[in-house]
Amino acid sequence: MSSPATPFEIARDTLKQLAQRRIAPTPDNYQTLYHEIAGTKPSGTDFPERQLRSLAAALPKSSPDQLRLARQLDEAVKAANWEAYQNHLTGFINGLAETQKLAWGELIGDLMRQWQARHPGLTPARKRDSLEHVLAGSASNSDNLFSRLQGLLRAWGQGSENEGNLAVDTEETAKTDSPEPTVAASEPQLLNEIRELFAFTLETAIASQLADSPQLAEDARTLAADVRRARRVDETQAFLARLKRFAFKLELLAEDQQELRKSLLGLMRLLVENITELITDDRWLQGQIEVVREIIDKPLSQRSIDDAERRLKEVLFKQSQLKASLLDAREAIKQMLAGFVDHLADFAGATSDYHDKIEGFAAKISSADDVSQLESVLAEVMRETRNIQINALRSHDELRQTEQKVKEAEARIHELEHELARTSILVRHDQLTGALNRHGLEDMFDKEIARARRHETVLCVALLDIDNFKKLNDSLGHDAGDQALIHLANTCRTTLRPQDTVARYGGEEFVILLPETHIEDATMVLTRLQRELTKNFFLHDNEKVLITFSAGVTQMTEQDNPTSVIKRADEAMYKAKQTGKNRVVSQ
Ligand code: GH3
Ligand code: MG
Ligand code: MG
Repeated sequence: MSSPATPFEIARDTLKQLAQRRIAPTPDNYQTLYHEIAGTKPSGTDFPERQLRSLAAALPKSSPDQLRLARQLDEAVKAANWEAYQNHLTGFINGLAETQKLAWGELIGDLMRQWQARHPGLTPARKRDSLEHVLAGSASNSDNLFSRLQGLLRAWGQGSENEGNLAVDTEETAKTDSPEPTVAASEPQLLNEIRELFAFTLETAIASQLADSPQLAEDARTLAADVRRARRVDETQAFLARLKRFAFKLELLAEDQQELRKSLLGLMRLLVENITELITDDRWLQGQIEVVREIIDKPLSQRSIDDAERRLKEVLFKQSQLKASLLDAREAIKQMLAGFVDHLADFAGATSDYHDKIEGFAAKISSADDVSQLESVLAEVMRETRNIQINALRSHDELRQTEQKVKEAEARIHELEHELARTSILVRHDQLTGALNRHGLEDMFDKEIARARRHETVLCVALLDIDNFKKLNDSLGHDAGDQALIHLANTCRTTLRPQDTVARYGGEEFVILLPETHIEDATMVLTRLQRELTKNFFLHDNEKVLITFSAGVTQMTEQDNPTSVIKRADEAMYKAKQTGKNRVVSQ
């Protein structure tokens, strides 16, 4: 076919060809044929055929669904059936969305299963951290989130065989948009990522959980800085050794916290039981509430909770005893009053009889005809009056006695109530010095021994006995002796650490528990206490009185129990006495 030169000729030829080829004379057909005859290309006006054909060609064909779509679209283009094209495409996209929806369901189900499953070496806290990391990194893009979650779950699933790669997998997946994990990162790059992720975990996830243990939180931050810096093998090894120690401390902390929680619950239970028991008089509760307030005000520690528990137990025990005595005393008063009221009723009965009789006598007197009749009536009147007098006198005496008994019972009640209020505060300690009493010491000893064994730390015990105390009592009086004991206990409190325990073991003997202290240091502590007593005099009537003591110090061993340790400390103290007093002997 020769190419006509002018548009007019081309147009005429186009119409001729349409007629000859029996093609419907639509604008599209005219246009197509026009370009065919002119040998020109349509200037983008043949949309959508060419674009839709190339779109269909560009679609992936790796699955049967995708192949089917490509074929359907191709046929629709060929048939220029754009409605069919649109339907096929919409159907495919909807199907795709459906598949995606299902995949989310599966993914969430999988996430829940993996969350609950135990993976060796993968703690729940670690899982939570990596999940939070993924969520924070792709919250705004659901496709991204989907693929990263898939990667995370794969990493958890592989955690048991390949635990070390967990962080890499998670981070790798986080960095790609593809659901499949990428393999591309080089080894040094991976190591850097692991290092960074580890440092990040230490300084955020771990340090932030250690608000109550500032030292450990600081350790976590220092370790994070170190792991970022560590490049050489020796640096890494040193870091690992420190990390191991850190992990060990964390474990101990977790154990301690577990125990704290248990004790706290026990304490609360005890308090609640006690409150319901004693609710009849709220003054009895003051001491106990004070104990709880003390715990809450101070940083929570095993020691303070143990103390509080013991105090409450003793308060409860003593108060229940006192309460029983108080109830007895009240009952006695009630009975006395009841007896007296009965007696009064009898008396009233007797006096009303008397009045009746007097009326009878008056009638007899007025109707009496002669003196002899009057005489016998008067004799009766005299007898009745005497009876009533005796009765009144007896009642008066009984009234006085009852009054006296009631007063005594009231005084007893007052005393008991006072004691009851005092037990809230004092029962746990020795009442003179405020130091722990022997019973308190026993409990504390058990706790300290258990703690030292659990933490593998040392515990030292000292027993001190005031020198020549009898002489002090004899020369200055018993009260001065008491004040001297108080002075010594106060000096112990101000000189020793808060975690040390001071208990009055006997008359002028004290036991001191020194946790986490080696024997040399414990000996030094006791020597410091001696020095402190020489500086901080005990004053009696404005006279300085020097108090000295002899002490034995010993360190607890694996085989020891409280009795054996105290025995050894006592032997050492005895040596101190024998070798001149006012000294500290260790053994
Ligand atoms: P040494 O140096 O050998 O220990 O002699 P000491 O006089 O201190 O020892 P001793 O055991 O002979 O006497 C202890 C005295 O402590 C006897 C006792 O009356 C007195 N004492 C015990 N408890 C108390 C107390 O609560 N208050 C007072 N004031 N004295 C007490
Ligand atoms: Mg003694
Ligand atoms: Mg003594």
